[in-house]
Amino acid sequence: MRELVFMSLLAATLSAQSDKIRVIAFGAHPDDCDIRASGTAALFAKMGHAVRFVSVTNGDAGHQTMKGVELAQRRLGEAKESARRLGIDYQVLENHDGELLPTLEVRKQIIRQIRDWKADVVLAPRPNDYHPDHRYTGVLVQDAAYMVVVPAVTPEVPALRKNPVFLYYEDNFQRPNPFRPDIAVDITDVIDRKIDALDSHVSQFYEWLPWVDGRLNEVPKDPAERKAWLLRNRTRQPGPAARASLIKWYGTERGNAAKYYEAFEICEYGTQPDETRIRQLFPMLGVGKASGPAK
Ligand SMILES: [Zn+2]
Repeated sequence: MRELVFMSLLAATLSAQSDKIRVIAFGAHPDDCDIRASGTAALFAKMGHAVRFVSVTNGDAGHQTMKGVELAQRRLGEAKESARRLGIDYQVLENHDGELLPTLEVRKQIIRQIRDWKADVVLAPRPNDYHPDHRYTGVLVQDAAYMVVVPAVTPEVPALRKNPVFLYYEDNFQRPNPFRPDIAVDITDVIDRKIDALDSHVSQFYEWLPWVDGRLNEVPKDPAERKAWLLRNRTRQPGPAARASLIKWYGTERGNAAKYYEAFEICEYGTQPDETRIRQLFPMLGVGKASGPAK
């Protein structure tokens, strides 16, 4: 009897493992994924799914007084702390900050990451951005979006049999076309986790980014005040398009009540998911329109 219970528990665990949704998110720097998707990552992690953040550069140029190996080491530590707080995996690739180019070598690094993680969902920036590293991260992930299934390319890591769904993070750039919030995730319940993730990147949110903006004197010293300041300055309220998307995915009541969100646009490359598939891949979207379970 005991064995039976044990075996069925084991079977349940194994099947739960194979049901795990595997998400990989790319950013140019060790804090970019956190800004765009750490709320969604926290929700996936809470539900037992597997999330990896990948910073394509090591961030060794993102500071006003530190640089090089010393800065890269500090930022690696911050990324690992963010991962610990979110319950995810965080990889930092050894490419120099501010010098990223869409080369074949870096494309292969991206292909290996996606295959190694056996990703169902890939998140990345759009290739329109003020920062060349962000822009090329978008290009590099797009360039990998078909190659991950081609066995002869980077044969040292087995090709995926199924192309993942590729999604873009939200941004404010209007040209050549504005961002379209195909999927909007209500992160209100985990907003503290998102702030905790951002708070890990001390060198960025409390030093470098305020220095760039000429606002270093505004950064609070007290740890709790710092987080409240991050919440005020680093979160966005849903605009009309995001609100409509929240209502589509969560129904009128919750869609209107959502205070914090993260949104994603479906990339035309990779697998094209229908609504049912999106609900499978984003189980936190819940019940959807009006009420009742999704079909
Ligand atoms: Zn960045």
